Parts: sequence; C-alpha cells; structure tokens
Amino acid sequence: MSYKAADAIQDLQYFGEFGGVNPSISDSSTYTFLSAKTMFDTFEGNTEGCYLYTRHSSPSNLYLGEALAALEGTESANVTGSGMGAITAVIFQLCSSGDHLISSRTIYGGTYAFLKNFLVRFNIDVSFVDITDPNAVRKAMRPNTRMIYCESVSNPLLEVADIPSLASIADEGGVPLVVDNTFSPLSLAPVKLGAHIVIHSLTKFINGSSDAVAGVVCGDKDFCLSLKDVNDGAGMLLGSTLDSIRAASILKNMRTLHLRMIKHSENALFLAQRFEEAGLRVVYPGLPSHPGYKKMMAQMNPEYGFGGMLTLDAGSLEKANALMELMQHENLGYLAVSLGFYKTLFSAPGTSTSSEIPEEEQKSMGLSDGLIRFSIGLDQHIDRTWSKMRDCMQKLDILPTAEVKA
Ligand code: PLP
Repeated sequence: MSYKAADAIQDLQYFGEFGGVNPSISDSSTYTFLSAKTMFDTFEGNTEGCYLYTRHSSPSNLYLGEALAALEGTESANVTGSGMGAITAVIFQLCSSGDHLISSRTIYGGTYAFLKNFLVRFNIDVSFVDITDPNAVRKAMRPNTRMIYCESVSNPLLEVADIPSLASIADEGGVPLVVDNTFSPLSLAPVKLGAHIVIHSLTKFINGSSDAVAGVVCGDKDFCLSLKDVNDGAGMLLGSTLDSIRAASILKNMRTLHLRMIKHSENALFLAQRFEEAGLRVVYPGLPSHPGYKKMMAQMNPEYGFGGMLTLDAGSLEKANALMELMQHENLGYLAVSLGFYKTLFSAPGTSTSSEIPEEEQKSMGLSDGLIRFSIGLDQHIDRTWSKMRDCMQKLDILPTAEVKA
C-alpha cells in the first residue's frame, strides 16, 4: 500500500495566533460578523472560511479535521463528539425511512444495538451479513440499499474486511462503502483501498490517552459539507459536537500516533506468537493461522504492523474473569473497556462491549464466553510482560506449567 499517511500529517504546518507552534484554541461558541449579509450567506452555506457557531464548526475542530483527512487521504473530515456521534450521523445522512443498509454482523456492540434496535423506529431495515463473504454481501443488495457498513478489523472478533471487493460491490450498486477504521489507523487506509467514507472513534488509538471521547467522519468535501448543512445535515442537527479544547488536545496526541502504532503492533505480535506457541487459543490478524492474514497482508501498510488488538479464549467466563482480575492485580494492565491506551486494557466482550448482542447471536458469530479482548499497551519490555502473564495463566491452570516454553 503506497499511501504515506504519516508524511501527509507531518507535512501540515500550523502557526498559533502569536506564532505559537500549536494552533491557538478557539475558545468561543459563537463568532462575530462584520456584516449581517455575510452572516446570512454563512447560514446558506456560501461563505467559506467564516465561522458561525461551534456546533457547525470551529477553527480548532477544523485543524483536527484537516489532520484526520490527511490520515485517511480524504478531501475533508468532520470531527464529532464521539465515535457513535460519527456513526449515527453518517447513517442518518445516508438513510431515510423505507431504506435498507447492509452491515457486517461482527461490529462494535453499540453500533450493533443502534442498527438492530434503534433504526426500526425509523423504518430503516438492516441486513447483517458475514462481511468476509463478498457473495453474501452481493446477495443482500436490494434496490433500496443505501450503504454497506463494516469495520476494517472488527470489534471484537478481529475479522478482516476485504475492502476492495466490498468497494466494488458498493460501486456496482451505486452506494457508499462506509468503514469504521478504529482498530487499524495507519495500518489500513480504507479510502485508498476503494471505500468511500471512513469513521473513527478518536477515543481509542488516535487520541491514545483514554482521557477524551471523540469521533470523525472522513470523506469527500460534498459529503462532509452535507453533514454540516444547517437545514438537513445530520452532524449539525443531531448535535454531536466536539469541544474545541478537546479537539486541540487530540490533535497534539495525534502527533505520536505513528510511533505508538508501531509499538502497539510490535508488542501485540510478540504476545500473540507466545500465546500461540503455548497452545492458547489466540486470534490476531498478524498470525498466519488467522483466516484474514493474507487479506490483511494484501491491504496493509506494513510499516505499522497488524495493530494492537488480540483476543484470547480462556475457556470459560469464570476463567476469563479470574485471569483479568489477576493480571490487573499484577499490574499488567487494567480490567477496562476501550482501547489504544499506553497500558494494556482487557475485558470480556460477551459481558461488556458486545453485551448488546443477544447470546444466541454471539454464539453464531463465534463470540465465546471465555473470550478476552486485549488492547496491548506500549510496554517497553514486552518479554517481561509475557513472563508475568504466563505466571498468571499457570496459577489459574489456563496454561499447564510443563508445556510452556521459557
Ligand atoms: N467503533 C468501534 C470499533 C468501537 O470500538 C467503538 C467503541 O468502543 C466505537 C466505534 C464507538 O466510539 P465512541 O465510544 O467514541 O462513541
């Protein structure tokens, strides 16, 4: 993959109001106009570069949007108050009552709940499909289909979407392929692979410090402007606005994203390999045993590796809970949802981030009770982490002492 996102971000240049190396934070919710006519024109969407009201846009939000557009190689990007704020705005912008959309069945639990339980109120029909089977996606297309939705690397099962194939199905049907790329920033650039719109929960790797909730929609200029339209823009009217002060802090954190992703991926690959050698049931897209390994290799930017997320099946919910509690006690990370933090985070998705998915459906998609999702941290000496994790697993009989390699 040739898109050099880190260079595109590095090449952005900002000067603050007083020559500062960081852009000044725009600490205002509303903006003055020298003439009433310009204010009217701005409401009509005709005045580029004029700020109206921060729910519409603000200089700080535009700076962050610019960096995120550079990340994904899109013309434009709108930041939002959360990842869900980005997802819901895109869906409502593209779909109306009577419409249909196709979604991967393995997606973040909140998105799943929105698609399954919320959209029925608006008479929007959703087909959940196995996204790794392009034929199933093609078969699900209907004349009233308005979008195809998936995660590039899915939460929590780490299925890898075949973005070029899905994009060509979307193109045939004249609908956008919308990809949530939260799990694989820099490693995958979905728009460069043919997708039309990319979403991130900035709450995760992009911000990387677990101190903010935010999201983004990256797309072409027309789509991003349509989201902001004062009359019918879902971004503007649903009101999921990011605060300017947070936008400024996320922009500063984003400057180390390339370094962090390399380390997250390096550490996750190391642990995945050790887990697999020890006979544990581990899923990581960087292991040749992963069904999506070849697909990942064909699509990824190898500089950033296979990402920081892996799953491990501890055998039962009881074992999974005991292991997570012990690992937290040993200071190997936190028993917490979310991802992209400097410390390892672990949770059992069946009873947390995917609990919105009914048990039967969890089973049919392969989400077992004992599954632990790990967001691997930035530990400098990951071999030390492995040896401590191995001790925890041996203590709980998840790993037999004798079969483990030193
Ligand atoms: N997309 C994915 C893949 C996620 O994992 C999450 C949250 O866990 C979201 C979207 C929602 O993001 P937020 O919590 O920022 O609304």
